[in-house]
Amino acid sequence: MRNYNFSAGPSMLPLEVLKSVQEELLDFGGTGISVMEMSHRSKPYEAINAEAEQLLRELMNIPENYDVIFVQGGASTQFEAIPLNICKNRKADYVVTGNFANKSFKEAQKYTDAVCVASSKDKNYSYIPKLSKDMFRPDADYVHICYNNTIFGTRYTEAPDTGSVPLVADISSCILSQEIDVTKFGVLYAGAQKNVGPAGVTIVIVRKDLQNMCQDICPTMLKWSTQIAEHSLYNTPPAFSTYVAMKVFRHLKEIGGVKAMQKINEKKAKMLYDYIDSSSFYTNSVEKEYRSLMNVPFVSPSAELDAKFVSEAAKDGLLTLKGHRLVGGMRASIYNAMPIEGIEKLIAFMKKFEKENK
Ligand SMILES: *Cc1c(COP(=O)(O)O)cnc(C)c1O
Repeated sequence: MRNYNFSAGPSMLPLEVLKSVQEELLDFGGTGISVMEMSHRSKPYEAINAEAEQLLRELMNIPENYDVIFVQGGASTQFEAIPLNICKNRKADYVVTGNFANKSFKEAQKYTDAVCVASSKDKNYSYIPKLSKDMFRPDADYVHICYNNTIFGTRYTEAPDTGSVPLVADISSCILSQEIDVTKFGVLYAGAQKNVGPAGVTIVIVRKDLQNMCQDICPTMLKWSTQIAEHSLYNTPPAFSTYVAMKVFRHLKEIGGVKAMQKINEKKAKMLYDYIDSSSFYTNSVEKEYRSLMNVPFVSPSAELDAKFVSEAAKDGLLTLKGHRLVGGMRASIYNAMPIEGIEKLIAFMKKFEKENK
């Protein structure tokens, strides 16, 4: 039996994708070998790499003036790659809305004059600050935001207006979960392990005008143009992760693309938030307007009950519901691959737990 995994990442993958990977594991497309054993310079792998890019372009509606690369290092490596790659005036503005936003800000301070222009730390990151373009330095190289805050369960409701300053966004925990207008961004990046595939591959989408303003010290491997020139095959790529990601993209396209996925995600999140709001036992303290579609933190009346909840839920096949140590309580991460039945089962468990422990 498969359990429902509410982990913030690595997280669930669509069952259809796992089965298809299983089927091809020992013999990919008649090659007699697995993708894991395959040269990244071989025809079959080049086809996988090209299809992954093509499908992502279709799904996200990525225009021609953007390049897409699949690299290693996770989203965290991009925290340093960004200030090393986009450097004209050596100034960058950061909006700090949570743990990952703060990490990216701290990393940037090593390589550029990075300034925090707005933060929601005053209320434990339970909202997204109101932003307007006069808050950013007009000569900043870019403005960095984290679109969905995985730990605190908040998200931007739209891309902020940064005027002529390019907008860079970490979309690790919301990529492909809702429609976004790529043209509003200079750079978008995401680790795979939340909505895309197994950890190991990181997606970077870079507008062409931001590709050739690297700092001299930028390592070759962190330079976007290195991988762009080689279609992500400059060195050995995370081939197996990219292959599974390609399958996830195919699957997403089959079910109607990001628009259809967004509808399902909105339904899932509404079911869970509605139940939490209707209960006097559970609380979610994020300002309603900014509630994430992907990560839903909540608490019961006490830390003891929280711990009991997490362990009893696991026995019921509802895994990894423990909240992040910075927030406590519980967190249900309900990424694309979490089916509606998983939410139904979670709510049924929450009701039962409430009755037994009130
Ligand atoms: C998970 C996550 C990260 C870290 O990703 P890695 O791939 O582990 O480096 C960064 N940003 C956000 C928003 C995340 O959710």
